Amino acid sequence: MSLLVIGTVAFDAIETPFGKTDKIVGGAATFISLAASYFTKNINLVSVVGDDFPQEAIGMLQKRGVKTDGLQIKEGEKTFFWSGRYHNDMNSRDTLDTQLNVLATFDPVIPADFQDCDFLMLGNLAPAVQQTVLDRLTKRPKLVVLDTMNFWMDIALDDLMSLLKNVDVLTINDEEARQLSGEYSLVKAAKKIMGFGPKYLIIKKGEHGALLFNKDQVFFAPALPLEEVFDPTGAGDSFAGGFIGYLAETRDISFDNLKRAIIFGSAMASFSVEKFGTERIQNLSQEEVDERVQQFIDLVQFDISLVG
Ligand code: AMP
Repeated sequence: MSLLVIGTVAFDAIETPFGKTDKIVGGAATFISLAASYFTKNINLVSVVGDDFPQEAIGMLQKRGVKTDGLQIKEGEKTFFWSGRYHNDMNSRDTLDTQLNVLATFDPVIPADFQDCDFLMLGNLAPAVQQTVLDRLTKRPKLVVLDTMNFWMDIALDDLMSLLKNVDVLTINDEEARQLSGEYSLVKAAKKIMGFGPKYLIIKKGEHGALLFNKDQVFFAPALPLEEVFDPTGAGDSFAGGFIGYLAETRDISFDNLKRAIIFGSAMASFSVEKFGTERIQNLSQEEVDERVQQFIDLVQFDISLVG
């Protein structure tokens, strides 16, 4: 029984009001796997890089217990590259460059011992490739979580719409929910998007937390008020990693447990933004994770007696 993660393993170049990086290691699947590794073992990664990708970065994932047998290394080709610049509010960003490189021809191969997966995290990637992974699994996982972004809504909407019919949980941000649904109200957007297929929808609102929708139920998890947000890149993926890592470990996919999983996801996102790239979530201690989750509990807990 295991968690299968697919998504990009990438080079990122990031500009924030605090500074600028050259190419650093990033990618949706990198952040997801690292964040999930604090909750569950048995994480299997399927992705692709070029021969320019550093062996140390693969070693860093393996050190966190991530199995990388499904990470293809393409000789003579270049790793996916993304570059973005954050605005002063740190909630919005512009994509400066996306170079698909190895991703343009990525054909995901699932090693035989990765087949027995109960939890599947379809991290950000072309929807057609995400669908291929689903098709190539001999048994449908217990829970399929999909993350995507506006980039794919712009260039591969039809593929995305047919993929949505096959997933259980979709995670997107508020702007993407509005784009996908054509509705400004997030409540209306959620209803419409759940009509496209997913039973659960998570709408991430950056520093304003996240909403979990299911039929007529809704749950809100705040983001931790942080003194300094250094680099939001990967916050959404770290969120998804904490979320699915906790679910894979507890194997309970009730709405109540999804609510708990959202808090673990939010805790991982809050770490991720404290440093550039994966720096912060590479080396956390269990105590740090526990303390952070406790801060979330304290943040929202209150006693109240209703009058009358
Ligand atoms: P997030 O900040 O959680 O939305 O994710 C940022 C990560 O997504 C970066 O590390 C990028 O390498 C990766 N990324 C950016 N654009 C794409 C894309 N079009 N497809 C897949 N991954 C992407």
